[in-house]
Amino acid sequence: MHLEAAVRPERIVELATRAGVALPDGFGPRGFVWRDLTTFVREYDFLCRIIRSAEDYATVASDYLADAAAKGAVYVDFIVSPAHGWMNAIAYPDLVDALGEALARATRRHGISASLSLTAVRAPGEWFGPDQARRVVREAVAHPSPWVRGFGVAGDVRFDELASYAPAFRAAKDAGLVTRAHCGEGEGARGVEVAMDVLGVDLLDHATDALSDPRTLERIIHERRLVTLCPMAHVLVGLVPSIDRHPAWAAMRAGLRVCLGTDDPVFFRFDVADTYAQVATNAGVDHDALVALTRNAVTCGLLGPEDQTTALSRLDPARFA
Ligand SMILES: [Zn+2]
Repeated sequence: MHLEAAVRPERIVELATRAGVALPDGFGPRGFVWRDLTTFVREYDFLCRIIRSAEDYATVASDYLADAAAKGAVYVDFIVSPAHGWMNAIAYPDLVDALGEALARATRRHGISASLSLTAVRAPGEWFGPDQARRVVREAVAHPSPWVRGFGVAGDVRFDELASYAPAFRAAKDAGLVTRAHCGEGEGARGVEVAMDVLGVDLLDHATDALSDPRTLERIIHERRLVTLCPMAHVLVGLVPSIDRHPAWAAMRAGLRVCLGTDDPVFFRFDVADTYAQVATNAGVDHDALVALTRNAVTCGLLGPEDQTTALSRLDPARFA
């Protein structure tokens, strides 16, 4: 899930008031209502304007981890965009240090495991694009953090060829980071093929279009790549007609490895617990399958060995008793 979109709605009011920024139309007590990509980008920018310091980022992470732990979540991976921090003059070391402290505190207090994936953003403007993606990796290498274990690209598929991010991905791999890309979100299976062939990603974020493309799907299954699936987001943005008709469930029966995510809770109004409940109720994914796909998330490489063992023991207490 994206950290910037994990803000509690009441925290949005507090941060906006402090920043002297008016709340946008479409914001209500439960967050935003999804309308379209254009309003989404504007509202996302609004969030990035009110999250103004490394401490704000840490507060957002702490809030979400406390809420998720209270609902039984075992593990959360936050995707965070350092470039949005740079826009607010937040230095990368300050950002990752503050977030690392927040994650460590949440692990101690609530027993929830957490990790950070850095993301570059496909968007117009000086802070985004392939060159800034390389800067993200350079910063990660220059200021290593035990919490930062992933690197990827997200954003709007209308900007930049995905392949143009290849140099950043090569540097991330050299640095030992788990790599991932948002792909196959309304652009066809080709984006997923590029993510695999040109970027060589470990994780496919969304990849929805590939799940209905037999050739690409077979390849993903054969290569045992993990798809991070955000089914509620896919329904709300119109990529799939309804949760029960998501192509992922048939693909899972055919051997696809997935894990479940929420993407942007403040826009889609579904947190991790809601997502699991929806998938269990409306997609007929049974308890054992839900445990198995949670295990996929825990073991995908974003958690260090110790945290991984802790999360597995919480997920499957009988085996670790
Ligand atoms: Zn996303």
